[in-house]
Amino acid sequence: MDDRRRRYLQQLIELGETDVVLPARNEGADHGVPDGSRTASPPPVPGTESVVAQPAGTRQAPVPRARPGPVSASPAAPAHEPALPALQPGIVAEAPAGSGDLFSADPLRQVATVDALVPIIDACRKCQLGSSRLHSVPGEGDPRAGLVVVGEAPGATEDETGRPFVGRAGKLLDDILGAIGLRREDVFICNVLKCRPPGNRNPEPLEVTACSPYLHRQLELIGPRVILAMGLPAAHALLGGHASLGELRLKLHRYRGIPLVVTYHPAALLRNPHWKRPTWDDIRIARRIYDGDAA
Ligand code: URA
Repeated sequence: MDDRRRRYLQQLIELGETDVVLPARNEGADHGVPDGSRTASPPPVPGTESVVAQPAGTRQAPVPRARPGPVSASPAAPAHEPALPALQPGIVAEAPAGSGDLFSADPLRQVATVDALVPIIDACRKCQLGSSRLHSVPGEGDPRAGLVVVGEAPGATEDETGRPFVGRAGKLLDDILGAIGLRREDVFICNVLKCRPPGNRNPEPLEVTACSPYLHRQLELIGPRVILAMGLPAAHALLGGHASLGELRLKLHRYRGIPLVVTYHPAALLRNPHWKRPTWDDIRIARRIYDGDAA
């Protein structure tokens, strides 16, 4: 087994892929022995592959390509990786016209930092969740992050602590970020809903409508280089529509001009570990955009 394939398998294992077996160094190809792992061979195109993206709709823009040469390396994402799938053009979600004017009293427009949103979110009672939750969970991380991760809604542990993604799904999110060389404090992590729906039920449309302005303002204030929408509620809240995850993945969307990548929610990965591999592709794409490539 060559080093590139070994590293690829190693990263899958770090992401929690339990079916992968990493053969001992002296096993395999040298002796013509088949690999001990069940993973499909990654395509052997290191470094020069392109993530192709162009805006959706009628506007025709030049098709940007990833810079040739080695992929930006991070500790856990070495230069020689399997090729990424090409990105198709995705949804372009523009800001609503005419928001904010001289007469606007919208308190969210008055705040200048993500921290200043915290007490406003905590005082919010626009929907019933503001009364049933223990703590609001506004989000946390670097207020100038290049990457913002958006999940669905706080769960029980998040409700108890007031912090996003600190339960089992959160541990997996930490691993996913670690696999592209990022720590949670390097990014900003938040959810569509800032309060826990009782029993972890799905968010109601009215709750999403009531809570979304906080998310929009957070993204406006942070101004990241890329947004990672984890799961359908996050993707739909930011892009609109009802498309399936399969339709939304591997497309380069734009949320108010910011590149947006859609992938599986970590809780879904805990239920279905086979989605970890496609998630790995998605986060590598997000990392490349974060690094200034391909968007
Ligand atoms: N799931 C989410 O979507 N967000 C969290 O904060 C925790 C679990």
